[in-house]
Formats: sequence, structure tokens, C-alpha cells
Amino acid sequence: MVFFCPVCNEEYLIISNLCETCRKVKHYMSCYSRDRVIEILDNVLSRTEDKQDNKINEEIKNEIQNKEYTLRSSKKSGKSNQIKRGENEN
Ligand SMILES: [Zn+2]
Repeated sequence: MVFFCPVCNEEYLIISNLCETCRKVKHYMSCYSRDRVIEILDNVLSRTEDKQDNKINEEIKNEIQNKEYTLRSSKKSGKSNQIKRGENEN
């Protein structure tokens, strides 16, 4: 008997209960919460393809800015000296 992934219904399952792609979606839900993943999918996929890229950028802009702020903060705490020294040597 052949088992298909219960989410996508496209992949054969041998030993796991989800295919690799759907497991990745599940992983995103555990990282960002189920509601956030659905919110992003709703907001992005309900647009035409040419507008989806803009929406993707808009959706993740705050998260990217937070990461950049974190990186800048960690540079100020002493790591920047090592980076600048390396840049000057090149
Ligand atoms: Zn699947």
C-alpha cells in the first residue's frame, strides 16, 4: 500500500508522516507561529505574481531591519574592531 503526504498529497511517504517539503513548512510554523505563516501566505499569495515580490519584501522588511539592528549592536560591542582590522589588511 502506498501512502501519500497528507498535506500536499503529492509525495510518497516511506518512513515519515510528512514529506520533506511539508516538514519544512511545519518547521517555519514552529519558528514563526502557525498564524504568522498563514498571515504571510494569505498576504503574499493573494496577489498577482509581479506584485508578490514587493509584498514579500514589505512583509519581511521589519524582520530584516531588526536583524540589521542586532548586527549593528553586536558590532558596537567590540566585534567591529576585529572586522575593521581585517578590512584594512586587505
Ligand atoms: Zn507534503
